[in-house]
Amino acid sequence: MKECDVAIIGAGPAGLTAALYCGRAKLQAVCVEKSVNGGQVASTEEVENYPGFMAISGPSLAEKMAKQAEKFGVGQQRATVQGITPDGRYWLVRTTSEGIKAKAVIIATGAEPRLLGCPGESDLRGRGVSYCAVCDGAFYEDADNVVVVGGGDSAVEEAVFLTKFARCVTLIHRRDSLRAAKILQDRLFGNQRVKVVWNSVIGSINGRDMVESVTVRNIRTGSVDTLPCEGVFVYVGMTPQTGFAGGLVAMDDNGYIITDETMATNMPGIFAAGDNRVKGLRQIVTAAADGAVAAFFAARYIEEHFG
Ligand code: NAP
Repeated sequence: MKECDVAIIGAGPAGLTAALYCGRAKLQAVCVEKSVNGGQVASTEEVENYPGFMAISGPSLAEKMAKQAEKFGVGQQRATVQGITPDGRYWLVRTTSEGIKAKAVIIATGAEPRLLGCPGESDLRGRGVSYCAVCDGAFYEDADNVVVVGGGDSAVEEAVFLTKFARCVTLIHRRDSLRAAKILQDRLFGNQRVKVVWNSVIGSINGRDMVESVTVRNIRTGSVDTLPCEGVFVYVGMTPQTGFAGGLVAMDDNGYIITDETMATNMPGIFAAGDNRVKGLRQIVTAAADGAVAAFFAARYIEEHFG
């Protein structure tokens, strides 16, 4: 069992910023991450709304954040967190590797892509169904048609990105207006390679070995069409990665952790930061801000409770 002041769960922008602030506060912190540093940022092609960078690739930004935290002495552990249990004044973080005994915990696990849940989606995952255009877009060089599902920032941004490869990108959205930021919508509507299918949902994703088509239902008229395509990129929102903390900290009905403005949860010494908590704007900059606030108040909590 490793002992430290603060266990940080997740190495996305929230976790890495918390790590940076813990390091600079001279707290002994360990950041546990199950996958690569950066979280969703690591699979973002280009970031152009993080202050100080006109444009930077997602993986570069993630690497810079990780290096900066490392510079201030924060340890890293590659493992999946399985649960958190109390141990007197301490918290025990159980992981698939060495457990951690900490005075405070910052949960910065972010969110993962929500599934469509239609027939064919899971069978054809990795065989034409994808949740990451940056990872898989290049497979669709010169494809005749690639479908993107959703109407938020992710769907619109990634649809435009996919036009670098595919001859045509069809965005299918369930309403007649997009949720995405206006600047992203302008780029989408200005791109000759993009077609938008409004008021429509995917009934099924079809194909024997690889995706061959999608069945599209217009929810206004009820008409059903089959649209040939080589790939389907699903961007219908995110689900918070908070299952391991179920029953421990208070959450809303969708599994987002409830915090106060100091990022404190209802459990003393447990804080949450980033896309996994209830908040109004989920961006890299707000995740980073949450991480800084959580680390500051975790330090104060430790000072008050452990001296
Ligand atoms: P989102 O904003 O929640 O949008 C999800 C989209 O999917 C919505 O258009 C929604 O339709 C649609 N949808 C949801 N369930 C569906 C279903 N079952 N079938 C069909 N469509 C469905 O999710 P996101 O785009 O992944 O973004 C997540 C967060 O990251 C947001 O806060 C976003 O602002 C942020 N983000 C920011 C940037 C950036 O700043 N550049 C880039 C990416 C993401 P309705 O509109 O009808 O609800």
